[in-house]
Amino acid sequence: MNRITLIPTSKNKSCAICDNTSGKCRQSKTDQDYWQCMEYADARKGEIISSYKCLGHSKDGVWGQFRIDNSQEWSDQQRQEWKARKPQRQQQQAKSNQIKHLNTGRLPTGILKKYSQIEEGGKQ
Ligand SMILES: [Zn+2]
Repeated sequence: MNRITLIPTSKNKSCAICDNTSGKCRQSKTDQDYWQCMEYADARKGEIISSYKCLGHSKDGVWGQFRIDNSQEWSDQQRQEWKARKPQRQQQQAKSNQIKHLNTGRLPTGILKKYSQIEEGGKQ
């Protein structure tokens, strides 16, 4: 596989898929139609988000790979509906990110175990 140079998103260049500007998502330097989006890392292959089509995922699964999809024209109405759904989607994402962080192993295992015990205990 060719190595691609990826440029993180910034205030000047937001993610084409999720509008992120904090550098989580990245765009190919040479192929500007190609993006890796962290916000939509859970997109299914072939799913079209904001007129970008999911091609799959990065090896570690942290990013979803996207390329602009010109086969489907988005109407203004579709875009508006998309925008209206966005805050809801971001809330859900924030929740699942919190859970992911607990499971990524950044914390010592002992603490992680405690967390999961607390979670399990809380459900009963
Ligand atoms: Zn993104």
